[in-house]
Formats: sequence, structure tokens, C-alpha cells
Amino acid sequence: MLIIILFIYGSCTGSLLVAMASRYVTGDSYLFPASHCDTCQTPLTYWQLVPVLSYTLLRGKCQTCGGTIPAVTLIVEVTAGLLATTVTDWTSFLIVLWLALWGFAALCDWQTQTFPGWVSWLATGFSLWHHSPLVWLLGCACLLAIHLLWPRWRHPVIGDGDLEMMVSYGLLRGVTATAHWLVVACLLGLWRARVGGRIAFLPDLVVSAVGWWLVA
Ligand SMILES: [Zn+2]
Repeated sequence: MLIIILFIYGSCTGSLLVAMASRYVTGDSYLFPASHCDTCQTPLTYWQLVPVLSYTLLRGKCQTCGGTIPAVTLIVEVTAGLLATTVTDWTSFLIVLWLALWGFAALCDWQTQTFPGWVSWLATGFSLWHHSPLVWLLGCACLLAIHLLWPRWRHPVIGDGDLEMMVSYGLLRGVTATAHWLVVACLLGLWRARVGGRIAFLPDLVVSAVGWWLVA
């Protein structure tokens, strides 16, 4: 029973993250207007707000205009639900929250190759919670250095957000886990980049992090 409740909490959070990311992309307020179809702007009825179930019943299409609801909505709702079922204590709760924050950043990055700067600071705060004050100082100095130096670098080989997530992951999971995580993320990135062009790397980093957390 507890697992079902946790799954519902998680999928609701996933649904919220998808809506927030969609509003970040369009520049709309996170709070207003109420949830609506992105194509015809019709407000959603109460049952269309139920995560997973509404997408399945609507078969991924708006009931009013027939516009496609992106499949990523269902994927994020199910994944967030599964992640919530892994919460057993305070540490796992913080890790799942950390994954949710970076998941939100990845959804924004995927469409705009940017994400809100507060995500890095908040997520790194979660990574640092069990560390000593000295590590806190070093972690914050790392993030500050990236913030100051990256805008001066004309053609960076890696995005500042990707590097911030790497610092954050390293602090959260340690060196060995970070190496395993990066190998899978790079393979995913290379597979996606084979079609050419610049890709947002944050989604690969997040998919790898979620995969390692669920499997390991
Ligand atoms: Zn519609």
C-alpha cells in the first residue's frame, strides 16, 4: 500500500516538473494560468490532471483539439513514480529530490539548452548535506568558478550546466560511482549525437543517474 502511495506522490511530482519545464520554455509564469493544452489552450478538467492515467485514457491526444501530448510526459510521470518508491529514509529522499531537480533541468535543457541557475545551487546543497564545512566551501567555490569562467570561454567543449551536475554528482555519490555514471551518460550522448549537430548533454546525464539509482 505504501509503495502505491509513494508512486502516486512521485508521478504527481513528475507531472508538475513537466508542466514547470514547459512553462520555462515558453517563458510563462509557473503559477498562472491553470494547467491547459499547449496547442488549443483549453483548461484541463480534474481527471485530465491525474498523472499516468489521463495520458493513457486520452491515448496521448488532447480531448478538445486532438493535439499530441508529448510522450515524455508519460515517461517522466512513470519514472518519477518509480523513483519515489525507492525512498526508504532521509538519505534516499534527498537523492530522489536531487534527481527530480536535475530531471527538471534536463527537460528545460533538452528544448532550450539552458535551465534555471537556482537548480544547480539547490541540488548541490542536497549533495553537500552530509559533508564537512570545508567540502561545503570547496563545492560552492567550484560552482562559483564555473559561473564566473564559463561566460568568458568562447567555444566551451562542455556546457556549464553539465559540469555543475558532475560536481554535484561527485559530491553526492563519490568518485567510483561518478566514473560509472559518466561512462553510461557518454555512451548515451554519443549514440544520440551520431545524427550530427549540437545536443543537450544534461538529459543523458540524468537518464544515466536515474538508471544507476534504480538498478544499483
Ligand atoms: Zn488541445
